[in-house]
Amino acid sequence: MSMNSVGRPTAPNSDAGTGAFASLTGGRGLLQDEALIFERDGWFKTGVDLPEPDLPADDLGDLVRQEAIGLPGLSEPEAMRHYVRLSQKNHAIDLALYPLGSCTMKHNPRLNEKLARLPGFADIHPLQPQSTVPGALELMDRLAHWLKTLTGMPAVALTPKAGAHGELCGILAIRAAHEARGDAARKVVLVPTSAHGTNPATAAFVGYTVREIAQTSDGRVDLADLEARLGPDVAAIMVTNPNTCGLFERDIVEIARLTHAAGAFFYCDGANFNAIVGRVRPGDLGVDAMHINLHKTFSTPHGGGGPGAGPVVLSEALAPFAPAPWLVHGPDGLALTEHETAEAGRAFGRMSAFHGQMGMFVRAYAYMRSHGADGLRQVAEDAVLNANYLKARLSDVMSPAFPDGPCMHEALFDDSWLEGTGVTTLDFAKAMIDEGFHPMTMYFPLVVHGAMLIEPTETESRQELDRFVEALRALAGAVRAGDVERFRGAPHLAPLRRLDETLAARKPRLRWRPEAVQTLAAE
Ligand SMILES: *Cc1c(COP(=O)(O)O)cnc(C)c1O
Repeated sequence: MSMNSVGRPTAPNSDAGTGAFASLTGGRGLLQDEALIFERDGWFKTGVDLPEPDLPADDLGDLVRQEAIGLPGLSEPEAMRHYVRLSQKNHAIDLALYPLGSCTMKHNPRLNEKLARLPGFADIHPLQPQSTVPGALELMDRLAHWLKTLTGMPAVALTPKAGAHGELCGILAIRAAHEARGDAARKVVLVPTSAHGTNPATAAFVGYTVREIAQTSDGRVDLADLEARLGPDVAAIMVTNPNTCGLFERDIVEIARLTHAAGAFFYCDGANFNAIVGRVRPGDLGVDAMHINLHKTFSTPHGGGGPGAGPVVLSEALAPFAPAPWLVHGPDGLALTEHETAEAGRAFGRMSAFHGQMGMFVRAYAYMRSHGADGLRQVAEDAVLNANYLKARLSDVMSPAFPDGPCMHEALFDDSWLEGTGVTTLDFAKAMIDEGFHPMTMYFPLVVHGAMLIEPTETESRQELDRFVEALRALAGAVRAGDVERFRGAPHLAPLRRLDETLAARKPRLRWRPEAVQTLAAE
């Protein structure tokens, strides 16, 4: 493999043996291959002129910096170009669909962004007196109203910052409710085998023992197994609906009935609410707590690890234990119950400082209002229609994990169609990158061998779906034709070739050090 001047492999394709043209410098089609920002010259220059500070150095005592700060100096165009180039090396929803399942990476309408940037929302501070932000409180109240209405639940906690954080909130409320009843014997949380990893992680984090509920051959909770496991030691069950196989839990009402009869609570993982919003109200199904990932159902951005929002709706039984703060309608209008008052006396505590992610609340509310009730219902219908379209158009070349009947918002395939071809799920997914598509979710849910989970979402048109289908069908054809090399080495055309993902996960290199350059080159 040849290296560029800073020791990185000069993809694309220079050693792929396919005879493809390689540039001399590692550049590709108007995209230059450049050094990391830290590897450039110019450590002692700066892009702006700053006046000498008039702070006497004596004031800092021995805290005065002795060495250079160690940041590269770039002019404005250099900095812009660097980051724009970096952005072009990655995928974005504005380039093409994200077929990732269990993620709902949908287009975020620009209208939401425009409204979130209104100064009255964007420039307020959480420590401002509440009397100066009645509009923000009203927006939170209206968002809460629609979340409760759409789920058919009486209460909502807005503060959790993500789906996983919402799970923690729900399970803490459940623990508080059991404790309030003086029921300390319940130490177990039941979770189906197909559950998202955050479910058992949450239960374990709160101190519960996690037990698995078996799954039927058609991808649903095994009722008999659930019934056998329910008992006076079970605090809650955590079930995702539609589940992570993209299937509706047909027996959901019976699951709730059995759970309640055993004195346990029903936590529903609502990450897939996108598939049923406007059609089904989880409250009608007997759910006690459910988080709603605003970034999966109500089109707020998936924030690269940044602030998100995962509000949790709660049943009558759990509402008194909701974390502070929440909104109350008082004589002077809306106010946040911030501290322990008589009303908030049973709250299990707080999930975060302040009141949650205002910017996400504005975006989600804008999305709800711009769709209206009929539009939200259509979201669910189109999301399901699109997934079934993909399932129907790919089932003759790939193997659907649950061929019988329609799916909900995701189409799930297993790897039985790859058996004996020398191509794995990972190889196939990586080859999608060469065709201009981001891979689907791989090897999840774990209950399906070599799983390929595809969620198109409702935002994709028939034309976009057809392009995706054509790419997958072409790749499936290459598998059948025995073109194994295309898959083994994939991606051939991406800025970086296939990475050692295990090493990256086990030993992530999160900080740049000068000596790291040469080691990276060798990987
Ligand atoms: C995404 C997801 C979660 C976790 O949500 P985050 O917002 O990523 O924390 C939990 N369960 C399921 C089924 C999910 O798809």
